[in-house]
Amino acid sequence: MFQRILIANRGEIALRVIRACREMGIESVAVYSQADADSMHVKLADKAICVGTARSADSYLKIDQIIAAAEVAGVDAIHPGYGFLAENAQFNEMCRSSGFEFIGPSPTAMEKLGDKNTARSMAVAQNVPVVPGSDGLIADFAKAAQTAIDIGFPVLIKATAGGGGKGMRVAESEDVLVSQLEAARNEAIAAFGNGGVYLEKFVERPRHIEVQVIADTHGNVCHLFERDCSVQRRHQKLVEEAPSADLPQDRREAICDAAVRMIAGADYAGAGTVEFIVDKDYNFYFIEVNARIQVEHPVSEMVTGVDLIQEQIRVAAGLPLSFRQDELTCKGAAIECRINAEDPTKNFQPSPGKIESMFAPGGLGVRFDSHVTSGYSVPPYYDSMIGKLIVHRPTRELAIATMLRALKELQIQGIKTTVPFHEWILKDPAFLDGSVDTKYVDRAYQGQSPK
Ligand code: ADP
Ligand code: ADP
Ligand code: MG
Repeated sequence: MFQRILIANRGEIALRVIRACREMGIESVAVYSQADADSMHVKLADKAICVGTARSADSYLKIDQIIAAAEVAGVDAIHPGYGFLAENAQFNEMCRSSGFEFIGPSPTAMEKLGDKNTARSMAVAQNVPVVPGSDGLIADFAKAAQTAIDIGFPVLIKATAGGGGKGMRVAESEDVLVSQLEAARNEAIAAFGNGGVYLEKFVERPRHIEVQVIADTHGNVCHLFERDCSVQRRHQKLVEEAPSADLPQDRREAICDAAVRMIAGADYAGAGTVEFIVDKDYNFYFIEVNARIQVEHPVSEMVTGVDLIQEQIRVAAGLPLSFRQDELTCKGAAIECRINAEDPTKNFQPSPGKIESMFAPGGLGVRFDSHVTSGYSVPPYYDSMIGKLIVHRPTRELAIATMLRALKELQIQGIKTTVPFHEWILKDPAFLDGSVDTKYVDRAYQGQSPK
Protein backbone atom coordinates (compact mmCIF):
# COMPACT_ATOMS: atom_id res chain seq x y z
CA MET A 1 0.00 0.00 0.00
CA PHE A 2 1.03 3.61 -0.57
CA GLN A 3 2.68 5.52 2.26
CA ARG A 4 1.98 9.04 1.04
CA ILE A 5 -0.52 10.54 -1.42
CA LEU A 6 -0.60 14.03 -2.93
CA ILE A 7 -4.04 15.52 -3.54
CA ALA A 8 -4.10 17.73 -6.63
CA ASN A 9 -7.28 19.58 -5.64
CA ARG A 10 -8.92 21.86 -3.08
CA GLY A 11 -12.18 22.30 -1.21
CA GLU A 12 -14.40 19.52 0.05
CA ILE A 13 -12.98 16.83 -2.25
CA ALA A 14 -9.47 17.44 -0.89
CA LEU A 15 -10.87 16.89 2.62
CA ARG A 16 -12.68 13.78 1.46
CA VAL A 17 -9.39 12.26 0.20
CA ILE A 18 -7.46 13.34 3.33
CA ARG A 19 -10.08 11.56 5.47
CA ALA A 20 -9.83 8.36 3.42
CA CYS A 21 -6.02 8.43 3.63
CA ARG A 22 -5.96 8.98 7.39
CA GLU A 23 -8.25 6.02 8.02
CA MET A 24 -5.97 3.86 5.87
CA GLY A 25 -2.80 5.01 7.67
CA ILE A 26 -1.59 6.87 4.57
CA GLU A 27 -0.01 10.33 4.86
CA SER A 28 -1.65 13.07 2.82
CA VAL A 29 0.03 15.99 1.08
CA ALA A 30 -2.09 18.99 0.11
CA VAL A 31 -1.27 21.51 -2.58
CA TYR A 32 -2.74 24.99 -2.43
CA SER A 33 -2.83 28.36 -4.12
CA GLN A 34 -1.95 31.55 -2.25
CA ALA A 35 -5.69 32.31 -2.02
CA ASP A 36 -6.22 29.02 -0.15
CA ALA A 37 -3.34 29.34 2.35
CA ASP A 38 -5.76 29.28 5.33
CA SER A 39 -8.02 26.53 3.95
CA MET A 40 -9.07 23.46 5.87
CA HIS A 41 -7.38 21.10 3.39
CA VAL A 42 -4.08 22.83 4.16
CA LYS A 43 -4.68 22.47 7.91
CA LEU A 44 -5.89 18.87 7.87
CA ALA A 45 -3.29 17.35 5.54
CA ASP A 46 -0.06 16.01 7.00
CA LYS A 47 1.92 18.37 4.78
CA ALA A 48 0.98 21.21 2.41
CA ILE A 49 2.85 22.80 -0.47
CA CYS A 50 1.99 26.07 -2.21
CA VAL A 51 1.84 25.64 -5.99
CA GLY A 52 1.13 29.17 -7.15
CA THR A 53 -1.11 32.19 -7.14
CA ALA A 54 -4.89 32.43 -6.92
CA ARG A 55 -5.98 31.76 -10.51
CA SER A 56 -6.44 28.02 -11.21
CA ALA A 57 -4.35 28.36 -14.36
CA ASP A 58 -1.48 29.55 -12.16
CA SER A 59 -1.79 26.88 -9.44
CA TYR A 60 -4.20 23.91 -9.48
CA LEU A 61 -3.83 23.50 -13.25
CA LYS A 62 -0.05 23.89 -13.31
CA ILE A 63 1.12 20.38 -14.09
CA ASP A 64 4.84 21.06 -13.63
CA GLN A 65 4.29 22.69 -10.22
CA ILE A 66 2.18 19.78 -9.02
CA ILE A 67 4.68 17.18 -10.21
CA ALA A 68 7.46 19.21 -8.54
CA ALA A 69 5.44 19.25 -5.28
CA ALA A 70 5.03 15.46 -5.53
CA GLU A 71 8.79 15.10 -5.93
CA VAL A 72 9.59 17.39 -2.99
CA ALA A 73 7.07 15.58 -0.75
CA GLY A 74 8.21 12.13 -1.89
CA VAL A 75 4.72 10.76 -2.48
CA ASP A 76 3.83 7.41 -4.07
CA ALA A 77 0.62 8.45 -5.76
CA ILE A 78 -1.50 11.43 -6.82
CA HIS A 79 -5.28 11.75 -6.37
CA PRO A 80 -6.76 14.29 -8.80
CA GLY A 81 -10.25 14.68 -7.23
CA TYR A 82 -12.80 16.04 -9.73
CA GLY A 83 -12.58 19.09 -11.98
CA PHE A 84 -9.13 20.69 -12.53
CA LEU A 85 -6.76 17.98 -13.91
CA ALA A 86 -8.94 14.96 -13.09
CA GLU A 87 -9.67 14.08 -16.72
CA ASN A 88 -6.49 15.39 -18.26
CA ALA A 89 -4.82 12.37 -19.92
CA GLN A 90 -1.57 14.31 -20.35
CA PHE A 91 -1.36 15.00 -16.59
CA ASN A 92 -2.21 11.35 -15.94
CA GLU A 93 0.67 10.30 -18.23
CA MET A 94 3.08 12.84 -16.67
CA CYS A 95 2.34 11.55 -13.15
CA ARG A 96 3.13 8.00 -14.23
CA SER A 97 6.25 8.87 -16.21
CA SER A 98 7.52 10.84 -13.19
CA GLY A 99 7.18 7.74 -11.04
CA PHE A 100 3.86 8.48 -9.29
CA GLU A 101 0.81 6.25 -9.49
CA PHE A 102 -2.18 8.20 -10.82
CA ILE A 103 -5.33 7.33 -8.87
CA GLY A 104 -7.63 6.79 -11.82
CA PRO A 105 -7.82 4.87 -15.11
CA SER A 106 -4.91 4.56 -17.55
CA PRO A 107 -4.23 7.54 -19.84
CA THR A 108 -5.40 5.45 -22.82
CA ALA A 109 -8.75 4.56 -21.26
CA MET A 110 -9.16 8.17 -20.08
CA GLU A 111 -8.43 9.56 -23.52
CA LYS A 112 -10.79 7.20 -25.36
CA LEU A 113 -13.69 7.67 -22.96
CA GLY A 114 -13.04 11.40 -22.61
CA ASP A 115 -13.70 11.85 -26.31
CA LYS A 116 -17.49 11.67 -26.40
CA ASN A 117 -17.74 10.51 -30.00
CA THR A 118 -15.23 7.68 -29.41
CA ALA A 119 -17.06 6.71 -26.21
CA ARG A 120 -20.30 6.63 -28.20
CA SER A 121 -18.79 4.15 -30.68
CA MET A 122 -17.50 2.06 -27.78
CA ALA A 123 -21.03 1.98 -26.36
CA VAL A 124 -22.39 0.79 -29.70
CA ALA A 125 -19.72 -1.93 -29.80
CA GLN A 126 -20.83 -3.15 -26.34
CA ASN A 127 -24.49 -3.20 -27.32
CA VAL A 128 -25.25 -0.25 -25.05
CA PRO A 129 -28.05 1.90 -26.50
CA VAL A 130 -27.02 5.41 -27.59
CA VAL A 131 -29.20 8.39 -28.50
CA PRO A 132 -30.04 8.15 -32.24
CA GLY A 133 -27.63 10.46 -34.03
CA SER A 134 -24.85 10.88 -36.53
CA ASP A 135 -22.53 8.02 -37.33
CA GLY A 136 -19.37 9.70 -36.02
CA LEU A 137 -18.20 13.28 -36.30
CA ILE A 138 -19.76 15.67 -38.80
CA ALA A 139 -17.48 15.97 -41.82
CA ASP A 140 -19.89 17.59 -44.23
CA PHE A 141 -22.83 19.87 -43.50
CA ALA A 142 -25.02 18.57 -46.34
CA LYS A 143 -24.78 15.03 -44.97
CA ALA A 144 -25.47 16.37 -41.48
CA ALA A 145 -28.74 17.89 -42.71
CA GLN A 146 -29.82 14.50 -44.09
CA THR A 147 -28.93 12.82 -40.77
CA ALA A 148 -30.92 15.44 -38.85
CA ILE A 149 -33.95 14.92 -41.10
CA ASP A 150 -33.65 11.14 -40.63
CA ILE A 151 -33.49 11.31 -36.82
CA GLY A 152 -35.98 14.19 -36.65
CA PHE A 153 -35.73 17.72 -35.24
CA PRO A 154 -34.93 19.09 -32.73
CA VAL A 155 -31.37 17.79 -32.70
CA LEU A 156 -28.56 18.46 -30.25
CA ILE A 157 -25.13 19.37 -31.59
CA LYS A 158 -22.46 18.17 -29.18
CA ALA A 159 -18.74 18.89 -29.02
CA THR A 160 -16.81 15.63 -28.78
CA ALA A 161 -14.41 17.33 -26.33
CA GLY A 162 -17.23 19.03 -24.39
CA GLY A 163 -17.86 18.89 -20.65
CA GLY A 164 -19.36 20.70 -17.69
CA GLY A 165 -22.51 21.48 -19.67
CA LYS A 166 -20.47 23.40 -22.29
CA GLY A 167 -20.28 22.72 -26.01
CA MET A 168 -23.94 21.80 -26.66
CA ARG A 169 -26.40 23.54 -28.99
CA VAL A 170 -29.95 22.71 -30.01
CA ALA A 171 -31.11 23.04 -33.63
CA GLU A 172 -34.91 23.25 -33.78
CA SER A 173 -35.20 23.01 -37.57
CA GLU A 174 -33.28 22.61 -40.81
CA ASP A 175 -33.11 26.40 -41.33
CA VAL A 176 -30.83 26.89 -38.35
CA LEU A 177 -28.87 23.63 -38.56
CA VAL A 178 -25.91 24.90 -40.56
CA SER A 179 -25.58 28.14 -38.58
CA GLN A 180 -25.82 26.24 -35.29
CA LEU A 181 -23.27 23.67 -36.49
CA GLU A 182 -20.86 26.46 -37.37
CA ALA A 183 -21.45 28.21 -34.05
CA ALA A 184 -20.97 24.97 -32.10
CA ARG A 185 -17.78 24.17 -33.99
CA ASN A 186 -16.30 27.63 -33.34
CA GLU A 187 -17.33 27.49 -29.68
CA ALA A 188 -15.72 24.06 -29.31
CA ILE A 189 -12.48 25.23 -30.93
CA ALA A 190 -12.35 28.24 -28.59
CA ALA A 191 -13.22 26.29 -25.42
CA PHE A 192 -11.56 22.91 -25.99
CA GLY A 193 -9.19 23.39 -28.92
CA ASN A 194 -11.09 20.66 -30.77
CA GLY A 195 -13.81 21.46 -33.30
CA GLY A 196 -15.19 17.93 -33.60
CA VAL A 197 -19.00 17.88 -33.28
CA TYR A 198 -21.68 15.22 -33.71
CA LEU A 199 -25.47 15.08 -33.69
CA GLU A 200 -27.88 13.49 -31.25
CA LYS A 201 -31.63 13.52 -31.25
CA PHE A 202 -32.76 16.04 -28.63
CA VAL A 203 -34.69 13.87 -26.21
CA GLU A 204 -37.69 15.79 -24.82
CA ARG A 205 -37.98 16.01 -21.06
CA PRO A 206 -35.47 13.28 -20.23
CA ARG A 207 -34.33 12.27 -16.80
CA HIS A 208 -30.61 11.96 -16.06
CA ILE A 209 -29.73 8.63 -14.53
CA GLU A 210 -26.14 7.53 -14.09
CA VAL A 211 -24.48 4.40 -12.79
CA GLN A 212 -21.49 4.38 -10.43
CA VAL A 213 -18.96 1.74 -11.42
CA ILE A 214 -15.58 0.67 -10.12
CA ALA A 215 -13.14 -1.79 -11.66
CA ASP A 216 -9.83 -3.22 -10.45
CA THR A 217 -6.77 -4.54 -12.28
CA HIS A 218 -7.81 -8.16 -11.53
CA GLY A 219 -10.73 -8.21 -13.95
CA ASN A 220 -13.48 -7.29 -11.48
CA VAL A 221 -16.02 -4.71 -12.63
CA CYS A 222 -18.81 -3.80 -10.20
CA HIS A 223 -21.62 -1.28 -10.24
CA LEU A 224 -22.93 0.54 -7.16
CA PHE A 225 -26.43 1.05 -8.56
CA GLU A 226 -27.82 4.25 -10.03
CA ARG A 227 -28.12 7.91 -9.09
CA ASP A 228 -30.86 10.17 -10.36
CA CYS A 229 -29.45 13.63 -11.14
CA SER A 230 -32.40 15.14 -13.00
CA VAL A 231 -32.56 18.22 -10.76
CA GLN A 232 -30.31 20.40 -12.91
CA ARG A 233 -30.06 24.05 -13.80
CA ARG A 234 -28.52 24.78 -17.19
CA HIS A 235 -27.11 21.23 -17.29
CA GLN A 236 -25.52 21.63 -13.84
CA LYS A 237 -26.63 19.18 -11.18
CA LEU A 238 -28.10 20.56 -7.94
CA VAL A 239 -29.65 17.54 -6.20
CA GLU A 240 -28.76 13.86 -6.62
CA GLU A 241 -30.34 10.79 -5.12
CA ALA A 242 -30.00 7.02 -4.93
CA PRO A 243 -31.93 4.99 -5.80
CA SER A 244 -33.96 6.74 -8.52
CA ALA A 245 -37.50 7.50 -7.33
CA ASP A 246 -39.01 6.14 -10.54
CA LEU A 247 -37.25 3.23 -12.26
CA PRO A 248 -38.81 -0.22 -12.63
CA GLN A 249 -36.59 -3.03 -11.30
CA ASP A 250 -36.00 -4.64 -14.72
CA ARG A 251 -34.90 -1.26 -16.11
CA ARG A 252 -32.61 -0.72 -13.12
CA GLU A 253 -30.94 -4.07 -13.79
CA ALA A 254 -30.65 -3.35 -17.51
CA ILE A 255 -29.07 0.08 -17.05
CA CYS A 256 -26.57 -1.19 -14.43
CA ASP A 257 -25.66 -4.13 -16.72
CA ALA A 258 -25.15 -1.74 -19.63
CA ALA A 259 -22.80 0.42 -17.52
CA VAL A 260 -20.76 -2.62 -16.49
CA ARG A 261 -20.50 -3.79 -20.14
CA MET A 262 -19.33 -0.35 -21.18
CA ILE A 263 -16.56 -0.25 -18.55
CA ALA A 264 -15.56 -3.90 -18.98
CA GLY A 265 -15.04 -3.23 -22.69
CA ALA A 266 -12.81 -0.21 -22.07
CA ASP A 267 -9.87 -1.85 -20.26
CA TYR A 268 -10.64 0.41 -17.32
CA ALA A 269 -9.48 0.36 -13.71
CA GLY A 270 -10.75 2.77 -11.07
CA ALA A 271 -14.00 4.53 -10.25
CA GLY A 272 -16.11 5.96 -13.04
CA THR A 273 -19.63 6.97 -13.92
CA VAL A 274 -21.64 5.98 -16.96
CA GLU A 275 -24.28 8.64 -17.68
CA PHE A 276 -27.59 8.03 -19.44
CA ILE A 277 -30.71 9.93 -20.28
CA VAL A 278 -34.00 8.12 -19.77
CA ASP A 279 -37.21 8.92 -21.65
CA LYS A 280 -40.79 8.71 -20.38
CA ASP A 281 -41.06 5.05 -21.42
CA TYR A 282 -37.90 4.19 -19.44
CA ASN A 283 -35.80 3.71 -22.57
CA PHE A 284 -32.25 4.63 -21.63
CA TYR A 285 -29.54 6.04 -23.85
CA PHE A 286 -25.82 6.34 -23.09
CA ILE A 287 -24.53 9.93 -23.13
CA GLU A 288 -21.02 9.90 -21.63
CA VAL A 289 -18.53 8.42 -19.19
CA ASN A 290 -16.89 10.49 -16.45
CA ALA A 291 -13.54 8.79 -15.90
CA ARG A 292 -13.06 10.08 -12.33
CA ILE A 293 -14.76 10.35 -8.96
CA GLN A 294 -17.86 12.54 -9.15
CA VAL A 295 -19.20 15.24 -6.86
CA GLU A 296 -22.26 13.11 -6.05
CA HIS A 297 -20.40 9.89 -5.13
CA PRO A 298 -21.52 10.10 -1.45
CA VAL A 299 -25.11 9.09 -2.20
CA SER A 300 -23.84 5.79 -3.63
CA GLU A 301 -21.55 5.37 -0.62
CA MET A 302 -24.47 5.82 1.75
CA VAL A 303 -26.76 3.24 0.10
CA THR A 304 -24.01 0.62 -0.36
CA GLY A 305 -21.73 1.27 2.63
CA VAL A 306 -18.69 1.28 0.30
CA ASP A 307 -15.96 3.93 0.75
CA LEU A 308 -15.37 4.80 -2.90
CA ILE A 309 -12.22 6.85 -2.30
CA GLN A 310 -10.59 4.06 -0.30
CA GLU A 311 -11.51 1.61 -3.07
CA GLN A 312 -9.97 3.97 -5.67
CA ILE A 313 -6.75 3.98 -3.63
CA ARG A 314 -6.76 0.17 -3.29
CA VAL A 315 -7.26 -0.28 -7.02
CA ALA A 316 -4.44 2.16 -7.86
CA ALA A 317 -2.16 0.22 -5.50
CA GLY A 318 -2.92 -2.95 -7.48
CA LEU A 319 -5.18 -4.57 -4.88
CA PRO A 320 -8.50 -6.17 -5.77
CA LEU A 321 -11.79 -4.47 -4.80
CA SER A 322 -12.71 -5.30 -1.20
CA PHE A 323 -16.18 -6.61 -2.23
CA ARG A 324 -17.87 -8.62 -4.96
CA GLN A 325 -20.94 -7.55 -6.90
CA ASP A 326 -23.16 -10.12 -5.18
CA GLU A 327 -22.20 -8.69 -1.79
CA LEU A 328 -23.59 -5.25 -2.64
CA THR A 329 -27.14 -4.16 -1.93
CA CYS A 330 -28.83 -0.79 -2.22
CA LYS A 331 -30.11 -0.01 1.25
CA GLY A 332 -32.52 2.84 2.03
CA ALA A 333 -32.51 6.19 0.25
CA ALA A 334 -29.84 8.89 0.07
CA ILE A 335 -30.12 12.47 -1.17
CA GLU A 336 -27.42 15.09 -1.72
CA CYS A 337 -27.96 18.85 -1.98
CA ARG A 338 -25.11 20.90 -3.41
CA ILE A 339 -24.64 23.97 -1.23
CA ASN A 340 -23.22 26.66 -3.52
CA ALA A 341 -22.22 30.22 -2.67
CA GLU A 342 -24.82 31.57 -5.09
CA ASP A 343 -27.98 33.64 -4.76
CA PRO A 344 -30.90 31.53 -6.06
CA THR A 345 -33.22 34.56 -5.97
CA LYS A 346 -30.86 36.41 -8.35
CA ASN A 347 -30.40 33.83 -11.09
CA PHE A 348 -27.82 31.90 -9.02
CA GLN A 349 -25.27 34.69 -9.30
CA PRO A 350 -22.05 33.87 -7.43
CA SER A 351 -21.92 35.16 -3.86
CA PRO A 352 -18.32 34.89 -2.68
CA GLY A 353 -17.19 36.63 0.52
CA LYS A 354 -16.74 36.11 4.23
CA ILE A 355 -18.84 33.61 6.16
CA GLU A 356 -19.47 35.59 9.35
CA SER A 357 -20.69 32.57 11.25
CA MET A 358 -21.96 29.11 10.52
CA PHE A 359 -23.46 26.02 12.10
CA ALA A 360 -23.30 22.60 10.45
CA PRO A 361 -26.27 20.23 10.82
CA GLY A 362 -26.00 16.80 12.39
CA GLY A 363 -28.16 14.10 13.88
CA LEU A 364 -29.24 10.70 12.64
CA GLY A 365 -28.64 10.11 8.95
CA VAL A 366 -26.90 13.43 8.21
CA ARG A 367 -23.49 13.89 6.57
CA PHE A 368 -22.02 17.29 5.70
CA ASP A 369 -18.96 17.21 3.43
CA SER A 370 -17.57 20.72 3.45
CA HIS A 371 -14.38 22.70 3.91
CA VAL A 372 -15.94 25.94 5.14
CA THR A 373 -15.97 27.32 8.70
CA SER A 374 -17.04 30.46 10.56
CA GLY A 375 -14.74 33.26 9.44
CA TYR A 376 -13.79 31.53 6.15
CA SER A 377 -13.81 33.69 3.03
CA VAL A 378 -15.15 32.01 -0.09
CA PRO A 379 -12.67 33.06 -2.78
CA PRO A 380 -14.08 34.28 -6.08
CA TYR A 381 -11.59 32.28 -8.15
CA TYR A 382 -12.99 28.77 -8.02
CA ASP A 383 -16.16 26.71 -8.28
CA SER A 384 -18.93 28.07 -6.07
CA MET A 385 -19.67 24.77 -4.31
CA ILE A 386 -18.97 25.16 -0.57
CA GLY A 387 -20.39 21.91 0.70
CA LYS A 388 -22.60 18.90 0.13
CA LEU A 389 -25.38 18.04 2.51
CA ILE A 390 -26.16 14.33 2.34
CA VAL A 391 -28.82 12.34 4.16
CA HIS A 392 -29.42 8.60 4.35
CA ARG A 393 -32.62 7.12 5.76
CA PRO A 394 -34.60 3.89 5.35
CA THR A 395 -37.10 5.41 2.88
CA ARG A 396 -37.22 8.33 0.43
CA GLU A 397 -39.99 10.01 2.46
CA LEU A 398 -37.87 9.95 5.61
CA ALA A 399 -34.82 11.12 3.67
CA ILE A 400 -36.75 14.14 2.37
CA ALA A 401 -37.98 14.99 5.90
CA THR A 402 -34.46 14.65 7.28
CA MET A 403 -33.02 16.81 4.49
CA LEU A 404 -35.58 19.56 5.12
CA ARG A 405 -34.79 19.67 8.83
CA ALA A 406 -31.02 19.55 8.14
CA LEU A 407 -31.35 22.44 5.66
CA LYS A 408 -33.11 24.42 8.42
CA GLU A 409 -30.32 23.65 10.87
CA LEU A 410 -27.59 24.65 8.42
CA GLN A 411 -26.76 28.28 9.27
CA ILE A 412 -24.49 30.26 7.00
CA GLN A 413 -24.36 34.01 7.63
CA GLY A 414 -22.54 36.56 5.49
CA ILE A 415 -23.04 35.08 2.01
CA LYS A 416 -25.99 33.80 -0.01
CA THR A 417 -26.33 30.06 -0.59
CA THR A 418 -28.52 27.66 -2.56
CA VAL A 419 -30.32 26.51 0.64
CA PRO A 420 -33.59 28.35 -0.24
CA PHE A 421 -33.65 26.63 -3.64
CA HIS A 422 -33.26 23.22 -1.98
CA GLU A 423 -36.06 23.98 0.47
CA TRP A 424 -38.26 24.85 -2.52
CA ILE A 425 -37.44 21.77 -4.63
CA LEU A 426 -37.77 19.33 -1.72
CA LYS A 427 -41.36 20.49 -1.20
CA ASP A 428 -42.21 20.64 -4.89
CA PRO A 429 -44.88 18.16 -6.08
CA ALA A 430 -42.82 17.13 -9.14
CA PHE A 431 -39.85 16.27 -6.93
CA LEU A 432 -42.04 14.46 -4.43
CA ASP A 433 -43.55 12.22 -7.10
CA GLY A 434 -40.21 11.62 -8.86
CA SER A 435 -41.21 13.16 -12.18
CA VAL A 436 -38.58 15.93 -12.44
CA ASP A 437 -36.86 16.00 -15.86
CA THR A 438 -33.57 17.76 -16.63
CA LYS A 439 -35.27 20.97 -17.80
CA TYR A 440 -37.80 21.12 -14.96
CA VAL A 441 -35.87 23.60 -12.81
CA ASP A 442 -35.24 25.90 -15.79
CA ARG A 443 -38.99 25.92 -16.51
CA ALA A 444 -40.41 26.03 -12.98
CA TYR A 445 -38.00 27.90 -10.72
CA GLN A 446 -37.71 31.67 -10.87
CA GLY A 447 -36.21 32.35 -7.49
CA GLN A 448 -39.45 31.90 -5.56
CA SER A 449 -39.37 31.45 -1.79
CA PRO A 450 -39.70 27.99 -0.29
CA LYS A 451 -43.35 26.81 -0.16
P1 ADP B 1 -21.43 17.21 -20.01
O1 ADP B 1 -20.13 16.61 -20.47
O2 ADP B 1 -21.46 18.67 -20.18
O3 ADP B 1 -21.83 16.72 -18.65
P2 ADP B 1 -23.52 15.43 -21.10
O4 ADP B 1 -23.44 14.75 -22.41
O5 ADP B 1 -23.34 14.59 -19.88
O6 ADP B 1 -22.52 16.67 -21.09
O7 ADP B 1 -24.94 16.16 -21.00
C1 ADP B 1 -25.25 17.05 -19.95
C2 ADP B 1 -26.76 17.17 -19.79
O8 ADP B 1 -27.37 17.61 -21.02
C3 ADP B 1 -27.47 15.87 -19.46
O9 ADP B 1 -27.48 15.60 -18.08
C4 ADP B 1 -28.88 16.15 -19.99
O10 ADP B 1 -29.57 16.97 -19.06
C5 ADP B 1 -28.60 16.97 -21.24
N1 ADP B 1 -28.54 16.14 -22.48
C6 ADP B 1 -27.46 15.50 -22.97
N2 ADP B 1 -27.73 14.87 -24.13
C7 ADP B 1 -29.04 15.08 -24.38
C8 ADP B 1 -29.95 14.70 -25.44
N3 ADP B 1 -29.55 13.97 -26.48
N4 ADP B 1 -31.24 15.13 -25.35
C9 ADP B 1 -31.64 15.92 -24.32
N5 ADP B 1 -30.85 16.31 -23.32
C10 ADP B 1 -29.56 15.91 -23.33
P1 ADP C 1 -20.68 16.33 -14.17
O1 ADP C 1 -21.52 17.49 -13.78
O2 ADP C 1 -19.73 16.59 -15.30
O3 ADP C 1 -21.43 15.06 -14.36
P2 ADP C 1 -19.79 16.38 -11.47
O4 ADP C 1 -21.18 16.54 -11.07
O5 ADP C 1 -18.93 15.40 -10.76
O6 ADP C 1 -19.72 16.02 -12.98
O7 ADP C 1 -19.12 17.81 -11.41
C1 ADP C 1 -17.75 17.98 -11.65
C2 ADP C 1 -17.53 19.42 -11.97
O8 ADP C 1 -17.83 20.22 -10.82
C3 ADP C 1 -16.13 19.74 -12.27
O9 ADP C 1 -15.82 19.47 -13.60
C4 ADP C 1 -16.05 21.23 -11.92
O10 ADP C 1 -16.47 22.04 -12.97
C5 ADP C 1 -17.03 21.39 -10.80
N1 ADP C 1 -16.50 21.51 -9.44
C6 ADP C 1 -17.26 21.58 -8.33
N2 ADP C 1 -16.53 21.73 -7.23
C7 ADP C 1 -15.24 21.73 -7.60
C8 ADP C 1 -13.99 21.81 -6.89
N3 ADP C 1 -13.90 21.93 -5.57
N4 ADP C 1 -12.88 21.73 -7.61
C9 ADP C 1 -12.92 21.61 -8.93
N5 ADP C 1 -14.06 21.51 -9.64
C10 ADP C 1 -15.21 21.58 -9.01
MG1 MG D 1 -22.30 14.78 -18.01
